[in-house]
Amino acid sequence: MPSISSPSPLRNVLFVPHGSPLFALNPGAAGAAMTQITQQLTAPRAIVVVSPHWETPEPTVGLATQPETIHDFYGFPAPLYALRYPATGSPQAAQEVVKALQAHGFAVHTDAQRGLDHGAWIPLRQMFPDADVPIVPLSVQSHAGPAHAYRVGQALAGLAAQNIWVLASGNVTHNLGDLRLARMNGDRTPAYVQVFADWLAEHLAQGDLASLLNYRQLSPEGVRAQPSEEHLLPLFTALGAAGPQAVPQAFYRGISDSVIAMDGYVFLNPPVPNDPTDRPPRAP
Ligand code: ZN
Repeated sequence: MPSISSPSPLRNVLFVPHGSPLFALNPGAAGAAMTQITQQLTAPRAIVVVSPHWETPEPTVGLATQPETIHDFYGFPAPLYALRYPATGSPQAAQEVVKALQAHGFAVHTDAQRGLDHGAWIPLRQMFPDADVPIVPLSVQSHAGPAHAYRVGQALAGLAAQNIWVLASGNVTHNLGDLRLARMNGDRTPAYVQVFADWLAEHLAQGDLASLLNYRQLSPEGVRAQPSEEHLLPLFTALGAAGPQAVPQAFYRGISDSVIAMDGYVFLNPPVPNDPTDRPPRAP
């Protein structure tokens, strides 16, 4: 059993799927995996949540102390609109996020009113059902590309070390046109969904950042899996926040709604090299 002083083998950084809004009502195996992995990390003092459903030209940090639950979806069952996620905000943690981004050269904006969109509250509700951790929303720059999203993550790396989790929410495949087609065509999953999710998993395992950042040019089906890219960009923010030595590890892989890959990732700390003084004495 690890002692209290032993560090968690996991970084305080995750990439989590939020699926379709129905995921909130039917969390299934992906939701269970999300709950379980949460319990393996060090409890956070706050969480900065990066959601592709908040898109702004430049990084923007939410300051609201009582962020509202935003039901930013249409035509879903009524019970979904009754769900609330009553987390508080944290002006202090929000200022730490602002300062970290400014220190890395970003022109940061703040928003005193921003609530929690479904990309934020659906995973958070699964991970912290009591809504007892302060939440700081951070926007995505959907037209700035993966390298920008990665640099945003790098700016947040120091916060993860101070027990502010970086929770990046998205979906590794997200083609809404194909989602509609699948519903009309018997809910078949097109082959590209698994092909692209596997390509990502392989290149994450290899630590091949250069290829990942250029996934639109180098991967099979990357553009079809992510026509508008914003749902994958938070993964690059997670990568930047975890740091180049961290080892990505899938805590869940699977497909929901025919075309949405629900893969989620945590980041292991790199193995610590053996202390030479710990070695047994050599035989004479
Ligand atoms: Zn979404």
